[in-house]
Amino acid sequence: MTYQNFSRAQLQAIDSAHHLHPFTDHKELRGAGARMITRAEGPFIYDSEGTQILDGMAGLWCVNVGYGREELAKAAYDQMKELPFYNSFFRCTTPTPVLLAAKLAELAPANVNQVFYGSSGSEANDTALRLVRHYWALEGKPTKRIVISRKSAYHGSSIAGASLGGMDGMHSQLYGAVPDIVHVMPPYSFELALPGESDHDFGLRAARAVEQAILDAGAENVAAFIGEPILGAGGVKIPPASYWPEIQRICDKYDVLLMIDEVITGYGRTGAWFASETYGIKADTITTAKALTSGYQPLSALLVGDRIASTLVDKGGEFYHGYTYSGHPVACAVALKNLEIIDREGLIDRVKNDTGPYFAAALAERIGTHDLIGETRAIGLMGAIEIVKDRGTRERFAGGASGDKIRDLSIANGFMVRSVGDTIIMAPPLIWTREHVDMACDRLAKALDSAEADLR
Ligand code: PLP
Repeated sequence: MTYQNFSRAQLQAIDSAHHLHPFTDHKELRGAGARMITRAEGPFIYDSEGTQILDGMAGLWCVNVGYGREELAKAAYDQMKELPFYNSFFRCTTPTPVLLAAKLAELAPANVNQVFYGSSGSEANDTALRLVRHYWALEGKPTKRIVISRKSAYHGSSIAGASLGGMDGMHSQLYGAVPDIVHVMPPYSFELALPGESDHDFGLRAARAVEQAILDAGAENVAAFIGEPILGAGGVKIPPASYWPEIQRICDKYDVLLMIDEVITGYGRTGAWFASETYGIKADTITTAKALTSGYQPLSALLVGDRIASTLVDKGGEFYHGYTYSGHPVACAVALKNLEIIDREGLIDRVKNDTGPYFAAALAERIGTHDLIGETRAIGLMGAIEIVKDRGTRERFAGGASGDKIRDLSIANGFMVRSVGDTIIMAPPLIWTREHVDMACDRLAKALDSAEADLR
């Protein structure tokens, strides 16, 4: 049975009848039907009617090497034939997770040399939370349990991931979050900077909210601070340059571990292998997933710093934690090939020196001048635009639906973006060239023009 035997309407009807989707209003889905993406090639996705759409979200922040890579399909096929699965529990392993761990240790910052695998970013953050609390217990400081996070953070959808995250909507449906997690303000200057406050001063103020939370809780009770280098799903909120150095100073001063969530920023997105490099952050754990395999297989890798790893090894005994698919041989084979492609094709240098700066300038010059836009921001191939009613006062449109409207118009014009409230966000495959940036801006500008009449 192949899907080609079904019409779009038939597939949508079956989807509505049987498929519960992530982050979806199912009543609305039943009315409108899901967008049916059926194939993809390079930077483009195609729907069931053959419409070509430029993918501005790399699937879901993951398809960094673009679609249709034969080499990745072959890596999976070869590994499946040789050994489709064996576990890495109880002193067993298979070759591909071993070789991948060595590669990741080589790519990661110098103090990070160990890897714990899962299948998703959420799982990796569960592991990270358990690991940092376990670390402090092993160090004889079991009261150090509190983790400080930020509002608007996204750290996944499992109970631990959603508890670590700072999304109000998700917390309202948790019915009992993981205890001892505290949320402070995010470094989001567009809405939170005071009139006349410089970016630099705002960055310091946002970082010092973390210090205040440590002082309020007592440093003897605080295990770690967790943060995405750039808040991604919360709206591509890029912190001022003063933010991360101040966070680092604060964590060092109070002996608070630094958990960096690079599920989005890992493997090239900001023009470096890791955004920890971009911002000079010395992390104790780095959560990665998504672009580790460019989304061709589900795989996450929690990169663990030497400080935690040596305590775990020397004092830990058995760590009662693991997933059936930790170190899945097929996913790891695909990851190894994917990292080789990123390296061989110089994708990270291209983002850093060519497409990244070009993308930031194009957004500013061609989109940022539109009447509906209050700010554009970008780093590497990751960007956002803020939709406003009034550019002077930054007043928003009533109802909070301007983002959805512009997203829908943009998709109708052949450019896939995502909306977060009144913000449109983008994170395209790293194979984009300047021509793709131009194409994206043309299509987005057209969407903004047609939204103008409706919104005002
Ligand atoms: N952390 C961050 C920063 C993410 O953006 C995401 C997903 O978007 C996750 C964690 C969760 O990853 P997953 O959806 O693979 O569980």
